[in-house]
Amino acid sequence: PEGSSSFAYEAEVSKMLDIVINSLYTNKDIFLRELISNASDALDKIRFLSVTKPELLGETKELEIKVDYDPDNKTLTVRDTGIGMTMDEMVKNLGTVARSGTTNFIKALSESEKNNVNMIGMFGVGFYSTFLVADRVTVASKSNEDDTQHVWESVNGESNFHVGPDPRGNTLGRGTEITLHLKEDADQYLSPYKLKELIRHYSEFVTHPVSLRQIKTVKVPKEEDEFNEDDEPKKDEGDDFEVTEEKVKEKEPEMEEVTTYEYEQINTDPAIWARDKDVITDEEYQEFWQVVSKGDGGQKAEDWTHFTAEGNINFKSILYVPSELPYALQQGQLDQMVNGLRLYVRKVLISDEFDLMPRYLSFVKGVVDSDDLPLNVNRETLQESKIVKIIKKKLVRKAIELIRKMATAPMPEEDEPTEAEIDAEGNSIIPEDKPKKIHPYISWYKKFGLSLKMGCIDDSANRDKLQKLLRFKTSKTDGENDYVSLQEYVDRMKDWQKEIYVFPGESMKALKESSFMDAFIERDVEVIYFTDAIDEYYLGNVREFSGHKFRDITKEGVKFSDEDENVAKRRAKVYAEKFKPLTKYLKKLYGSDVSRVSISKRLGRAPAIVSASEWGNSANMDRIMRAQAW
Ligand code: ADP
Ligand code: MG
Repeated sequence: PEGSSSFAYEAEVSKMLDIVINSLYTNKDIFLRELISNASDALDKIRFLSVTKPELLGETKELEIKVDYDPDNKTLTVRDTGIGMTMDEMVKNLGTVARSGTTNFIKALSESEKNNVNMIGMFGVGFYSTFLVADRVTVASKSNEDDTQHVWESVNGESNFHVGPDPRGNTLGRGTEITLHLKEDADQYLSPYKLKELIRHYSEFVTHPVSLRQIKTVKVPKEEDEFNEDDEPKKDEGDDFEVTEEKVKEKEPEMEEVTTYEYEQINTDPAIWARDKDVITDEEYQEFWQVVSKGDGGQKAEDWTHFTAEGNINFKSILYVPSELPYALQQGQLDQMVNGLRLYVRKVLISDEFDLMPRYLSFVKGVVDSDDLPLNVNRETLQESKIVKIIKKKLVRKAIELIRKMATAPMPEEDEPTEAEIDAEGNSIIPEDKPKKIHPYISWYKKFGLSLKMGCIDDSANRDKLQKLLRFKTSKTDGENDYVSLQEYVDRMKDWQKEIYVFPGESMKALKESSFMDAFIERDVEVIYFTDAIDEYYLGNVREFSGHKFRDITKEGVKFSDEDENVAKRRAKVYAEKFKPLTKYLKKLYGSDVSRVSISKRLGRAPAIVSASEWGNSANMDRIMRAQAW
């Protein structure tokens, strides 16, 4: 437009736009989800500000989203009465600043084989999905902070965009209007049925009304003309037959087609958490999961809990546990993990990333709505408030309880034998090596166990509960998916056994074959294998489970039954004397590299073993620390 300036997209944005434009495998529908979610964010912002300053709403009091389609001009428009953008904000938000999300998005896309941009929203670059369906995108916006309404415009495939004052003047009271000039092959987004279906799907949980302007052609009687007025004398019904017939003919009015427009609100009851849980289907919960997870953490939630907390502080909440590791956790970028739940106060969104979960539960997503929180304080003050602290505590307990429920769920039944698995006599001929069903918790634990161990280290208040959720491989587990809990381990300890034997090391194979295991195998004593790097920290910080100390078997101090110990002691005494020349010689040979050389009470196959002192680092810890270059 006239008087507008041209800006170049930053290189990263340009690169990403190329990917979006050329992505063949994408479900293009998602552009609408991104536009509605941006509009909803903008509305949340103004609603939040207006709670303390109602005058900010000015003339534009309705907070809503409206979608229009125009088949003649092949345009689709999404309009909101949200916070709007100034010219500077448009330049910044829609093109020049390569936000950190862009880089991650490009990286994630190049890692997946197909250019599936479905996760675009997750990286904070959802707006650009409009170029999946549009040749040209126009954004008009009016902010309270700017007297002039501005337009941003960009043509698909060009490396520039334009921003300038809107030649139409201030047509929007406040808010943003995004117009997509649809591509040739995007005609489907001009169909009211398609649009209605998409809007219903993507706005179901948006807490602002979303309406679609429907074009309707209706037949209405043509305006009466003067001619009819002259017919007045015929009003008299007492006239003859002929006249009556004429009258009937006249009464059938001439019709004409008129186009009318009417907005129909598509989303009706958005606050799912406020509804009675008995009437909410699993599908609805899963759809809401998509909203709160923004696609990060798997297509499906693993499980959820929906509850109302009552007492001094009342709130409603739905907490979800994801089925897949969120992107940042997969990448090991803990600091990048968006840690937060959606917090509402009386259905006003305070933040969609409100810190209500400790670091180790950052994968838990969901919503909290409380009537007891003040609306008129800023986020930081709220974060520090006593009420929020109490809510946090309760949420953590609920999240742990949810995981406990997952862990203790009954094993799913094996599938009925298939036809091929039954012989002619009707006997099952299932092959021995057919893989058995895995408990869903084990599949989940393999991904999230690390976080739970972190919890045992960080959260001493909930440590006992968290430890019960851990699962380990031991010298007695069998195969890839056989794990035991600490409680199971304790239940099958030897009568004399007081401590939990653990063996930290790099790989299962190395541990299994190690000479350290000989004494335990000989005595049929179970040993837990600690092969995660975090296990050493867990061991160092947690130290025991339900009164039983962890004992690192690579260190000194392992004791078996009294009987066993007595025999060993007596034998050691004899041997100590007998082998004195050897131990003396070895001590001299190794000098200060070893702290002492002694007769072992627990060697099997190996003639000698190097072990760590009870209070020093284990060899494994040394290895980990070397790897981390401490
Ligand atoms: P995200 O929504 O994750 O921030 P997007 O690419 O979807 O990323 O949007 C980029 C930015 O553009 C938003 O953060 C917001 O500042 C601005 N924006 C987009 N749409 C609107 C809108 N309808 N009203 C106000 N600002 C908007
Ligand atoms: Mg967005």
